[in-house]
Amino acid sequence: MTAIEIRSLAARFGSPLLVVDCAQVRHQYRVLKEALPGVDLHYALKPLPHAAVVSCLYDEGAFFDLATTGEVELVKAQGIPAERCIHTHPIKRDSDIRDALRYGVTTFVADNEDEIRKFVRYRKRAELLLRVSFRSPDAVVDLSRKFGCEPGAVLGLIEKARRLGIRVRGLSFHVGSQATDPGKYIEAIDACRNLIAEALLAGLPALDILDIGGGFPVAYGETVMSIEDFCRPIRAALATLPRHVRLIAEPGRFIAAPAGVAVSSVMGKAKRAGRWWYYLDDGLYGSYSGQLFDHAKYPVSVLKDGELHESVLAGPTCDSIDVIDDDILLPQLEVGDLVIGRMMGAYTWASATDFNFFKRAKVVVMNEQPADTRRVVQLHRRSAGGGSSKPAA
Ligand SMILES: *Cc1c(COP(=O)(O)O)cnc(C)c1O
Repeated sequence: MTAIEIRSLAARFGSPLLVVDCAQVRHQYRVLKEALPGVDLHYALKPLPHAAVVSCLYDEGAFFDLATTGEVELVKAQGIPAERCIHTHPIKRDSDIRDALRYGVTTFVADNEDEIRKFVRYRKRAELLLRVSFRSPDAVVDLSRKFGCEPGAVLGLIEKARRLGIRVRGLSFHVGSQATDPGKYIEAIDACRNLIAEALLAGLPALDILDIGGGFPVAYGETVMSIEDFCRPIRAALATLPRHVRLIAEPGRFIAAPAGVAVSSVMGKAKRAGRWWYYLDDGLYGSYSGQLFDHAKYPVSVLKDGELHESVLAGPTCDSIDVIDDDILLPQLEVGDLVIGRMMGAYTWASATDFNFFKRAKVVVMNEQPADTRRVVQLHRRSAGGGSSKPAA
């Protein structure tokens, strides 16, 4: 996204904005698809639950990973066939299960006996994946702490499900988001291969789905392995699984992060203790919320040159923690100047609040159609549930 494009979007739509570039979404999907051939990619909506992302991924042939009724409604509104969706929240209310079933989703996830029991009444319409926990203390976000059963509990749970008349179709895991290296996937795949073999030996129904979750990393500032290098050993491990096993992954961040550019503007400035403080119209309670919740540090830049000074970038709210960066080298900025955050598509706008009545960023979508060189821009408001309204031209 060029400076000219960013300036013209800000002039047209104001700020703060989250510009979502569907060309990037498509690019990330294709790159991951190529790195993991034979694996169905279910986009996890959580990092960027937006209609335009869903529909452009559907056009690419993607599948979807849902966790809540709101996500079910979002894909339904985009006309996504339920067969392309799985529901992967390990802990659900009965209403969550019913809403997903009514839509037509048939694959759900559970990781304990109480959750399995919730499916007794739906056993004719629903099948389960068992989520297994493989701890990743090194991952930035260790998702195996909160969810997943011990590998040693898997066979017992399958047996319990069988006695309840519920079909367990396979296993799933999530090694943690923004994984630093592929080692955890390999360990988890190896362990799952053994579990699949043990289930067979124990005479349990064959496990024919393996879901390797999300976690694929993107480069925020520090370099990370290329996705091709990252996936090569994963591919090799997957190749050792029995042929009949359908492979699934649930990428979220990898698809969404590079597609989002946050555009904010300076609403005021002050010199304090020898440093310029710039107060932006977006901050930690808005799109930069990922700095808190997701532990990410986004590459921030301005569209200006000049002598650099140690400066502070602060968010707009009256809370003192609302500081994006308290030691950043910037040229002298003026009220109205734009500040750009890159790699901000994942876990940013999705976790933004309207604290202090500072409205979260408007989403502006570009390159919604692959062949569209005119760059049709549509304005999307989160309040409309990710729906779109055409800007007055
Ligand atoms: C959040 C989540 C994902 C996406 O994870 P990323 O690290 O963003 O790829 C996938 N599956 C489940 C079950 C999740 O909770």
